Amino acid sequence: MENGAARTVPAVIVAIDGPSGTGKSSTSKAVAAKLGLSYLDTGAQYRAITWWMVSNDIDITDPSAIAAAAGKPEIVSGTDPAEPTITVDGTDVAGPIRTQEVTSKVSAVSAVPEVRARITELQRALAGSAPAGIVVEGRDIGTTVLPDADLKIFLTASPEARAARRSGEIKGADVEATREALVKRDAADSSRKTSPLAKADDAVEVDTSDLTLQQVIECVVTLVEEKRAAA
Ligand code: C5P
Repeated sequence: MENGAARTVPAVIVAIDGPSGTGKSSTSKAVAAKLGLSYLDTGAQYRAITWWMVSNDIDITDPSAIAAAAGKPEIVSGTDPAEPTITVDGTDVAGPIRTQEVTSKVSAVSAVPEVRARITELQRALAGSAPAGIVVEGRDIGTTVLPDADLKIFLTASPEARAARRSGEIKGADVEATREALVKRDAADSSRKTSPLAKADDAVEVDTSDLTLQQVIECVVTLVEEKRAAA
């Protein structure tokens, strides 16, 4: 280091995409905490706008009604990985966005281009203002939202492993019903026209089926550190 100047680590942007139940949220949060980065759960943003649509009696079978309302709610995400928050018009919606009703409707709402444009804008603003960098998890982060991310990861796992994890998180959940719901949501998310769930060409694919959460976290931390060392 010239003249003994303090070494500054450049901000690093990490995109983690993949279907639900692959360990995306737990991995992203832990990696961000470990490396002192911000964290953004983009699924929570799509759930929040869906919660607002449902609460305001917007007909979610009508894409034009969703499009017309897309600009109305103010969605704010707190990006501390130790305590991520999400509010809609100042109301804490962290609990309500996880209901079965929101889960079953979020794919229809998130398929509407006006919704995606609005949420993508929020995501880019947060990623651009994170002081040390950020881990952003979602479905289209590496392909569409942050195509210039320093590191792109695509997490996968077998439908069985994913259903077992998800039903373990929800009390009294039926594994087979959870598997069916996951497969249905993935199919909707992967087949929509505007920025579908997809692996970016330059993403590193990690199959988490037979890995522990700790192993996945270590794998991603190592990949980030390698990128930083090479920068
Ligand atoms: O990650 P999570 O399961 O909470 O995401 C909920 C839904 O939000 C997904 O099923 C998908 O419809 C939508 N989503 C999206 N693009 C993202 C993140 C989530 O369309 N980047």
